[in-house]
Amino acid sequence: MSETHAALHARHRAVLPDWLALYYQHPIEITHGEGRHVWDGDGKRYLDFFGGILTTMTAHALPEVTKAVAEQAGRILHSSTLYLDRPMVDLAERVARLSGIPDARVFFTTSGTEANDTALLLATTHRRSNQILAMRNSYHGRSFSTVGITGNRSWSPTSLSPLQTLYVHGGVRARGPYAHLSDAEFITACVADLEDVLGQAHGTVAALIAEPVQGVGGFTAPPDGLYAAFREVLERHGILWISDEVQTGWGRTGEHFWGWQAHAHAGPPDMLTFAKGIGNGMSIGGVVARAEVMNCLEANSISTFGGSPITMAAGMANLTHLLEHDLQGNARRVGGLLIERLRAATAGNDAVREVRGRGLMIGVELVEPGSERPSPEAASAVLEAAREAGLLIGKGGGHHTSVLRIAPPLSLTVAEAEQGAAILEQALNTVRGRAA
Ligand code: PLP
Repeated sequence: MSETHAALHARHRAVLPDWLALYYQHPIEITHGEGRHVWDGDGKRYLDFFGGILTTMTAHALPEVTKAVAEQAGRILHSSTLYLDRPMVDLAERVARLSGIPDARVFFTTSGTEANDTALLLATTHRRSNQILAMRNSYHGRSFSTVGITGNRSWSPTSLSPLQTLYVHGGVRARGPYAHLSDAEFITACVADLEDVLGQAHGTVAALIAEPVQGVGGFTAPPDGLYAAFREVLERHGILWISDEVQTGWGRTGEHFWGWQAHAHAGPPDMLTFAKGIGNGMSIGGVVARAEVMNCLEANSISTFGGSPITMAAGMANLTHLLEHDLQGNARRVGGLLIERLRAATAGNDAVREVRGRGLMIGVELVEPGSERPSPEAASAVLEAAREAGLLIGKGGGHHTSVLRIAPPLSLTVAEAEQGAAILEQALNTVRGRAA
């Protein structure tokens, strides 16, 4: 480890919480970026296939975003929602139109956690119930209410909760009691599980919240159509459907602009939450809901920083770039190439259990060779080997962090995809070599 990184690491450890996990045995500081590349404090360049946890959505140092931020910063940084905020109204109109939700209202926050927290406040108030359905292995944020609906125990540090949460099967296709079933049978079994869980609830249930593709949980998803089948049950009970699009929104999954659209015959959800990519690093989160749901609160509510002019200007410039350059189409095309390339490269590698995902949201699940046992050690080793060779990736998964998460900025080129895949192939081979 370079001295610069070692010294900063020691200061980090001394002053920040122990539970604030860092990647790599010798953590690195990222000092700047451009396009799909970043540089560390030693001047080493990396191809970035994680985008600061799916947040650098378009590109590092995108000139349009830099310009919008600089211009807005030169005018005014903050006024508060007590005054009319033109950039906020502009972006809200655009997000409302894009959401597919009829009669949509938008509330901006500063993070995905706060967006989900707001959705929970709305759902529980609207339905007069604190009972929430959530998916096993889910992640929805770090606040007291959102850890209470986070099924992934590695990220839910307390069992105390203001909510009564009922966990449902379905978010993980390839593990668990229904893994051996066909897609249609899997959906039938999950619907039966949902009905069964509802039979055990105390009267009214407020909402189901679900990530269309589980992010932190290791890029796992149900078969297309599961949430449409769930929707039929929910509608019978008047239960709201909240789609957590914090990772899956804005075209990341290639085929769809929103993750819920893989379950399209369900129609749009009652609420949609977003964050991460829209700001390209500026802190924007938010909720879109039908007006009737959004307006159910009977007291005032604000977010001091939510919708601040500078973040809204950045979000608008970023979204405009994304739409004008059809980055969703790019995610579909280049993501399709990348996943095929990774599948071919790992065929026969018995440390790789599955290569899955869609668009530029690709998971590689690692196991102890020839077994079904998750291998967090292999995931860490591949992460290190890839970093050494100049590629940044992420990891995730359920109780074991054994899935590599690959989620580059959506402007990834074919050449960069090829280059990253070649590095990954080599990194994955080192694990196989060691394990054999
Ligand atoms: N929801 C999902 C699906 C997420 O992946 C995350 C963060 O990783 C959140 C919510 C919380 O967002 P934030 O970290 O911006 O609070």
